[in-house]
Amino acid sequence: MKLTVRRWAVVPAAGRGERYGGAAPKQYASLLGRPVLSWSVGALLAESSIDGVIVVVAPGDRRWRRLPEAVDPRVSSCTGGARREISVRNALDALAPRARDMDWVIVHDAARPCLHRQDLRRLVTATRNDPVGGLLAVPVSDTLKREGDHARSHGTVAREGLWRALTPQMFRYGLLRRALALCLERKRAVTDEASAVEALGLRPMLVKGRGDNIKITNPEDGALAAAILRSRE
Ligand code: C5P
Repeated sequence: MKLTVRRWAVVPAAGRGERYGGAAPKQYASLLGRPVLSWSVGALLAESSIDGVIVVVAPGDRRWRRLPEAVDPRVSSCTGGARREISVRNALDALAPRARDMDWVIVHDAARPCLHRQDLRRLVTATRNDPVGGLLAVPVSDTLKREGDHARSHGTVAREGLWRALTPQMFRYGLLRRALALCLERKRAVTDEASAVEALGLRPMLVKGRGDNIKITNPEDGALAAAILRSRE
């Protein structure tokens, strides 16, 4: 009997987003009348091949349950931790009763509300038969500088072969769980899922994505995200 491989999405939304400022954490900032998190979860729910979405919220978060996405039958939630990788690990633990090792896990930052449906589709299609998985990324187009003392440029870093890692990032459930557990055990810095998988000696696929899949970080990013979403209406 052939087992069906399922796809789960994990949305880490337990950060404080201190650089963004504002009364609420950035994932709850209003973007064209909807919280940023609603846009990010909505982009995943638009992909019919995703069986379930798990949103990771901060302990004591009271905003999440008021969002319409919180009552969607495909959506559930769990509590995050002090660092992003702990939040993602908690989601994988919460999925354990439902997920199998060969299932796919699509991790997407709550702070990336402009994920385009075609980008998500491209990632899902490109990695379909890949043993490792991959991530959306964009080749670096700016000239890169190495900062020395007193904010002075000490040199130029060759940009050939350099990419900016975005989310979603998509890996097999069993592989990602093992990779994150190892990094947490060895106290290795993990800024994205791909870096945890690379630490196992594996090579995630770079799938070229759109540069407008921005991460809301600084106060000016909200207006930029609004302009990007409005241009798609
Ligand atoms: O802080 P940064 O923008 O890199 O966070 C990326 C994503 O990870 C955000 O969606 C944030 O809410 C989430 N995060 C988390 N748990 C943490 C820190 C960040 O879920 N402890």
